Amino acid sequence: MAEYRKGIELNPGVVVLKPRRDESVRRRHPWLFSGGVAEVRGQPQPGDVVEVHGAEGEWLARGFFNPASEMRVRLATWNVAEPLDEAWLRRQLQAAIERRRELVSPSSTDACRLAFIESDGLPGLIVDRYGDFLVVQLNNPAMERWREPIVQALLTLVQPRGVFERSDDDLRTREGLPLRVGILSGEAPPEQVTITEHGLRFQVEVRTGHKTGFYLDQRESRLRTSTWLSRGSVLNAFAYTGAFAVYALRAGAEHVVNLDSSAEVLRLAEVNAELNGFAGRTESIVGNAFEVLRRFRDEGRQFEAIVLDPPRFAQSRAAVPRASRGYKDLNLLAMKLLRTGGRLVTFSCSGLISAELFQQILFAAALDSGREVRIIQRLGQGVDHPVLLTFPEAGYLKGFVCVVD
Ligand code: SAH
Repeated sequence: MAEYRKGIELNPGVVVLKPRRDESVRRRHPWLFSGGVAEVRGQPQPGDVVEVHGAEGEWLARGFFNPASEMRVRLATWNVAEPLDEAWLRRQLQAAIERRRELVSPSSTDACRLAFIESDGLPGLIVDRYGDFLVVQLNNPAMERWREPIVQALLTLVQPRGVFERSDDDLRTREGLPLRVGILSGEAPPEQVTITEHGLRFQVEVRTGHKTGFYLDQRESRLRTSTWLSRGSVLNAFAYTGAFAVYALRAGAEHVVNLDSSAEVLRLAEVNAELNGFAGRTESIVGNAFEVLRRFRDEGRQFEAIVLDPPRFAQSRAAVPRASRGYKDLNLLAMKLLRTGGRLVTFSCSGLISAELFQQILFAAALDSGREVRIIQRLGQGVDHPVLLTFPEAGYLKGFVCVVD
């Protein structure tokens, strides 16, 4: 008989693997797909803790079950003596938050990712801090069930003014969960929360913005690249709320064109430029970057520097060839728009496109553009988005700074 205590099953089910399907579990990869499962014993419910056994019956790991997802078990411990209970949850959260204390200094920013899914040993959980507010995203039934204990632990560990839920990622649908947005504890965050990043201020719409409101993963790249965006006219393509633009203007750029397909985000980009004393130095263009860049090429418009930070083009393995062509076209157009010696700051956040492949794509674009292109800097996601070595999928963002002659 299954017995429950605050949502944690005391008499868990057992998931038995097919023969020779234990390799990834032994290598501590946290995802166990349905294809590797021979048998499920007991009647584990979505979000229940299950024991994972090899085909010979040996204990391998423990994790969270979800019959509704292809990802049948999200493994969370390889230590037989470690129960996955609320005390475990609190320990994981505390460790994640303490890790950030060392990595992200409060003098550099008051906005940071405090918990980053499997990389922090918290499958499918995201906690982002924006000033005095926390935003959480619960992406599987186990975290869903632990909503209350997660909030309680965060209140003790961080003492925020409010905790807001943004469980509106498509991932939830694949896990058989409805989307959920709303206040979980304390004060509701204002429509716009003001954060500080490297001495610059940004308005963040945590209730409605992309992700949980801001691309926190680009914090370090914004700082590191601003020196390459420090003169003349800069094109910030896929601008979102104009964060790269504000950094470029502070570094000395004369003028920045913020280009995005959403008029709404560009309004906030203007607000963010004003907030930092750069009113009148930005221009907003609403449109599809592929088309606008082509138009600029036809018009002979040129830039000293271009930032390309598009959304994820490759959503699946099957989509990689098409996504690669998209990245190539985009980078080719950008190379053509740069003055001699111009800088291209180019990113891909498609986890399925490796840095090596992205470099090959840039090579193909450079050849076709007839320009000579040199990589001078390699970039990736910030320190608050670490990549656990047993979980390389956590590393998705890569970027290059190139000089285009
Ligand atoms: N560089 C930004 C984040 C960019 S997110 C930052 O540091 O904050 C990607 C942006 O691309 C989103 O704002 C989205 O609205 C926009 N976008 C998506 N497809 C587009 C397209 N085809 N053309 C122009 N913008 C697009």
